[in-house]
Amino acid sequence: MWQVHTVGNQNYLYAPSRKILVDGGPGKEQARKLRQAIGTVDIVLLTHAHADHYGGLPYLLTAFPGLRLFLHSRETPFLCNPLLEPALLFGGLPPRVLSNPFLLGPSNLPFQEIDSTWFLELELVPLPGHTPGLFGIAMGDTLFAADTLFGPEIVKKYPILYHFDPEETLRTLSTVEERFTTFIPSHGSPGGRELLRINKEAIEQTFETILRTTTSGTLSLEKLLQTTMTLLAPVNSLDHYFLNRSALLGYVSSLEKQGELTLQLENLEVMVQGR
Ligand SMILES: [Zn+2]
Repeated sequence: MWQVHTVGNQNYLYAPSRKILVDGGPGKEQARKLRQAIGTVDIVLLTHAHADHYGGLPYLLTAFPGLRLFLHSRETPFLCNPLLEPALLFGGLPPRVLSNPFLLGPSNLPFQEIDSTWFLELELVPLPGHTPGLFGIAMGDTLFAADTLFGPEIVKKYPILYHFDPEETLRTLSTVEERFTTFIPSHGSPGGRELLRINKEAIEQTFETILRTTTSGTLSLEKLLQTTMTLLAPVNSLDHYFLNRSALLGYVSSLEKQGELTLQLENLEVMVQGR
């Protein structure tokens, strides 16, 4: 039923028999190329509400006025208010550097929540972690995994992988490990179980780097973030810094919830202490 299409550096699914497209691309240009590759679209299934997956929808809605858009109920707040994505990354009203089209999606898109019958009929697979309501699509022993995992070239370039809840992503990856043998990410090249392993190892390496950094005594949260980024993925642009920072805070919170480290306020600095 499904065809895989690669436009730019993103992978999409399209079902010609029902004219269903999975994800709408980061913007007009990719959506235009996608339209040229696939033809007509009646329905878009959005795997998750990140702007680089739905920025192309205004173009597609203009091209196909009857187009219907569906996504998981846990993702809908982000589509109702696209400012929530950059605000989540920043921790408050986002600055201009995070208000670019890659992170701040279009507003006022008409959408409907996907219901459970769709999950059965189209073999949608809940894959929480990267975002709370992300789903993938099963195609026999192949899984279209959206951003639950990334191609090897992406993992190498950006080793601090963004997952809202990295611990939940690890659990999700474990649940799909036995069922599927091939994995298609939204970004980067598909692969077998080796790709799953590379992604798991990158997440584990980030957890371990934070833990190692906190074993030598108490340090400020800012110092911990700086040291971890320096060790894993030095960045020199503000938007990339905020992306990594937001990702790392998720890893820190996971470890704090596991009791591996504690957070406290000292002289108006958040201090982190390992076990
Ligand atoms: Zn994403």
